[in-house]
Amino acid sequence: MFYISTRGHSVKKKFCDILLEGLAPDGGLYLPEYYPKIHSYELQRLRDIYFKKGYAYLAFEILSVYVDDIPRDDLLALCTKTYTENIFGSHLITPLRKLDANISILALSNGPTLAFKDMAMQLLGNLFEYELLRKNQQLNILGATSGDTGSAAEYAMRGKKGVRVFMTSPDGRMSKFQKAQMFSLMDANIFNIAIQGVFDDCQDIVKEVSSDLEFKKTYKIGTVNSINWARLLAQVVYYFAGYFQATTDNNQLVSFSVPSGNFGNVCAGHVAKMMGLPVSRLVVATNENNVLDDFFKTGLYKVRNSSNTYETSSPSMDISKASNFERFIFDLIGRDASKTAELFSKKLQAHGEFSLSDHPEFSGIREDYGFVSGHSNHLQRLFAIKDTFEKFGELIDPHTADGLNVARQFLEDDIPMVVLETALPVKFSDVIQEAIGAVPPTPDKYKDLENCALRFESMSADTQLVKKFIAEHCA
Ligand SMILES: *Cc1c(COP(=O)(O)O)cnc(C)c1O
Repeated sequence: MFYISTRGHSVKKKFCDILLEGLAPDGGLYLPEYYPKIHSYELQRLRDIYFKKGYAYLAFEILSVYVDDIPRDDLLALCTKTYTENIFGSHLITPLRKLDANISILALSNGPTLAFKDMAMQLLGNLFEYELLRKNQQLNILGATSGDTGSAAEYAMRGKKGVRVFMTSPDGRMSKFQKAQMFSLMDANIFNIAIQGVFDDCQDIVKEVSSDLEFKKTYKIGTVNSINWARLLAQVVYYFAGYFQATTDNNQLVSFSVPSGNFGNVCAGHVAKMMGLPVSRLVVATNENNVLDDFFKTGLYKVRNSSNTYETSSPSMDISKASNFERFIFDLIGRDASKTAELFSKKLQAHGEFSLSDHPEFSGIREDYGFVSGHSNHLQRLFAIKDTFEKFGELIDPHTADGLNVARQFLEDDIPMVVLETALPVKFSDVIQEAIGAVPPTPDKYKDLENCALRFESMSADTQLVKKFIAEHCA
């Protein structure tokens, strides 16, 4: 399997070539040359593998379709090391629980940081370590986080050989739980940098450091952002696991509702559907930052700047542009790379928007690709949390609440609707308190977290200081 850029860069690459890279050299995103089809007998085999041998073996089967430059035994070992009951809390790894006759919740948030990003990031940590060792290289990951991504990256990379993590975060702006989760890590290869500023300041610093090519090269700076194909690929696996749990045979259809921000999660659902998984609808659920919802309703994709991006009670979906969206558009317009380049590097750069409403392809978005969308707001989230708690005794987090709200608009007879649970309520206890008047229970292994010793470096929002810190700790 070779990988191509959505913008047409001509050098074809292998999985491990793009593993440690971010964007393609032409600014596009990497995608496999094609999506291998899983035929129905094959689907039955995968179903049996999941229930008889477990999630890790299912992951291996799906990964090995796209990864042919890691020996099969090694790839299997990486999967079985990653997806364990010990790390994810159950042998199904992503267990499905029924709410009512139509709707179920797929638990993706029982990994180390209690958000779905662990599903991909834990694998990425093991893949990075493997590949860096094989190439005899080092990598220093520099990132900016407002909470979920940074902690998932740190828990995935802690103690890994060849990798260091330098994670900037806005001082005093993460929840107490998130801060404790990150700053309590004492691993020698993890560095938390609390920046006196807001999230945008952190992101600007990362951009500035990365644009200093000399520094980037000397200190082997890399990232783990959501455009990484390996992350997306890891996420394809749980659509299969969710499908198998929601059905008894492979003629049935299933719909998925996905709380969306950067379009990584639901894009993995799109890949699963392209591979032949019998998916009816892919429901793109957003919060008040409804850039994606607008697109799927009208064909107009209009990004926002950060001052027009609302701070909401489902904060991990507060995005102004969706970094993975280009992948789907590339597929939608018949994998026309020059057209994709024009839309994303010309129109979007110049006008902050483009429209596909007049394109014949846009009309197929629902029929051919299954995409539908909606959004919900703060009060609707609170209501969904309370209602779900009262009716079903189930506590859901605010992001999952957006997913559930929008899912209800797209139910179909006899087609199970699976809502992806992207975080656990304990991460957002203020919102839960507001919704039900009580704080969510803290899982046992996190009981002491908020009393732990913390280790972090405090710094003003100054790129030079961050560079100096990195240089001093890369010796
Ligand atoms: C990152 C995140 C999302 C958004 O996922 P995308 O892949 O960016 O669409 C939703 N919910 C939670 C809790 C997240 O951490």
